[in-house]
Amino acid sequence: MSKKYKSLETKLIHAGEPHPRINGAVALPIFQSATFEYSGEASYHDIKYIRLNNTPNHVALHEKLAALENAAAAVVTASGMAAISTALFTVLSAGDHILMQDCLYGGTHDLVTKDFQDFGLAYTFIKGDDPASWSAQIQENTKAIYVEALTNPLLQVADLKAVAGFAKAHGLVSMIDNTFASPVNFRPAEWGFDLSLHSATKYLNGHSDIVAGAVIGRAEWIEKIRHKLNHLGGSLDPHAAFLLHRGLKTLALRVAKNNENALQLAQFLAAHPAVANVYYAGLESSESYARACELFEGFGGVLSFELKGDVAQAEAFMQKVQLPIIAPSLGGVETLMTRPATTSHAGMSAADRQQSGITDTLIRVSVGIEATEDLIEDFRQALED
Ligand code: PLP
Repeated sequence: MSKKYKSLETKLIHAGEPHPRINGAVALPIFQSATFEYSGEASYHDIKYIRLNNTPNHVALHEKLAALENAAAAVVTASGMAAISTALFTVLSAGDHILMQDCLYGGTHDLVTKDFQDFGLAYTFIKGDDPASWSAQIQENTKAIYVEALTNPLLQVADLKAVAGFAKAHGLVSMIDNTFASPVNFRPAEWGFDLSLHSATKYLNGHSDIVAGAVIGRAEWIEKIRHKLNHLGGSLDPHAAFLLHRGLKTLALRVAKNNENALQLAQFLAAHPAVANVYYAGLESSESYARACELFEGFGGVLSFELKGDVAQAEAFMQKVQLPIIAPSLGGVETLMTRPATTSHAGMSAADRQQSGITDTLIRVSVGIEATEDLIEDFRQALED
């Protein structure tokens, strides 16, 4: 199975595919079998059994995903949260402490702030763009540092180079949620990260029709994470694996269009008199612009903005646009729009939201792959109606 391909586009199509093809099938079939004939496997984790993440559908995805990020290994999981929780519970043991970026995806934030203490784990939130402040937060029991490629919903970029360097210098495991960037825009292993985590529900699958996750990174960590996953049970169903495998093949094409649409829409919004603020790392006015240019190959498909006006005006705008579907999540072929204060960040107190810069009027857009001009025209009519 393991041939080396140079470019990401070729890896998406060919990496991890079986050679020879199974019964000549061009598309990897779905192995809808819970168990497989015993063929002398020595260890529990190698027994061919569906929960042990080693059916042909799992194995092919592991190889393809590792190749995409130029990492040694990967494991797929039942959801993004299964990837994140299993990775964290592998890296950390009772009594350990972790440094975490202060602006996290809501599910991760809840896991850390609500569940960690039941497992004897401690955390300190750090500012992702202030490396000078991190050393003072390290404790004797600090084991890891955890950040996100782009923060949600304000699309800021932490000093990711400094995170990987800081982890190395202090013997910490560096972990990054790379969901918002996708391997097309950012490949953490190339910058020295130990582990990259994904909600494959988003860009990797790209069609808003499954839930899945992945951990990609150093082989020794991935092996430990796979064993923990086998115990915790968050394995990916072969049917979802098949859809993820199919969706991945067009990742480069989709993300290129997501990037292009989001940049053009961000530029249109930034120039419109009805718009107060636009948050997108691809705008030269963004604080994250220089860092994003250095680290990323594209700025991603998600942007946020505020209209001049109150919540009622933001809601009215969302009713007027025709193409975006008002729904949470991101990374699909269709444009989705939400007001984070009522969806992804509704669990945060109003005071915490305000402190994080998430106003009640903020609108987040996951820009799809529709024609750029149709999207811009739709936003224009809704702004000017
Ligand atoms: N990480 C990020 C950045 C996300 O946006 C999400 C979901 O929205 C997750 C992780 C969790 O993924 P899942 O819903 O697949 O469990």
